[in-house]
Amino acid sequence: MAIYRDIYNIEKISKGPYDIWKINERLEATMYLVCGSEKACLIDTAYGLTDLKELTAELTGLPVSVINTHGHIDHVFGNRWFEHAMIHPADQALYQEAVDGFEKLVSRDWVREAYGQYLRDLDLSTVRFPVADSIREGHVIDLGEKRLEVIEVPGHTAGSIMLVDRDEKLCFAGDAIIEHLWLFLKESLPPEICRDSMRRAVQILKEAGVERIYHGHCAYSPLMIPDTDVMLWGMDRVCAGTACGQPFENMLGNGAEYTFGQWSVLCRS
Ligand SMILES: [Zn+2]
Ligand SMILES: [Zn+2]
Repeated sequence: MAIYRDIYNIEKISKGPYDIWKINERLEATMYLVCGSEKACLIDTAYGLTDLKELTAELTGLPVSVINTHGHIDHVFGNRWFEHAMIHPADQALYQEAVDGFEKLVSRDWVREAYGQYLRDLDLSTVRFPVADSIREGHVIDLGEKRLEVIEVPGHTAGSIMLVDRDEKLCFAGDAIIEHLWLFLKESLPPEICRDSMRRAVQILKEAGVERIYHGHCAYSPLMIPDTDVMLWGMDRVCAGTACGQPFENMLGNGAEYTFGQWSVLCRS
């Protein structure tokens, strides 16, 4: 079931009694609204181009809190519609950087060109980002008959986390386990650390019986657990120096791109 509302493609991805909504913003960034019997949480907030509080209130009458899988702007900018958020302490500085850079970014020409219609009525004097509380591995988010376990997956950023829903046999992995993994960013950790933390995370997912991996840029289908085998095989080759990379350059940096089937990883040269 998919609902199209304004710039959001909203799809119910739960099979059990409590709703989980995948909310894709302009095919660019994906958030997830997970409902329990008492509370709901929004995992990531994309760019938050329109009022997300209003949007989530249309999907659930429960109080909604925000959890960020990491501190990048395409996962936290929508926090500004909420009073409270949670993020891993190792990404607090990135979150602060995103918050501090909001005003400057939205006044850039290319942003005005790409997102002008959403910025037209933006009153910067009213924009408030919540202070984010810390969340770590070991935390369990209890939404009432729905529990999400926090697992740390450092790599894409030092404070990347994923959230595991054992009942639905799925997880929310942000940008930590994703088809096109970005490790060339200044805040990314070395590939060896990323490989090890991915392997550990995948092991936890397999032991929990998780089948589907919903990530932060999931415009279409989720990753399936068997997809992680090729990722880990590829990461082993990258770490061993036996993979052949192609040079790439984009607006955030450059490096070498390694492709293995449908999966790729972008590393610093
Ligand atoms: Zn990211
Ligand atoms: Zn992202």
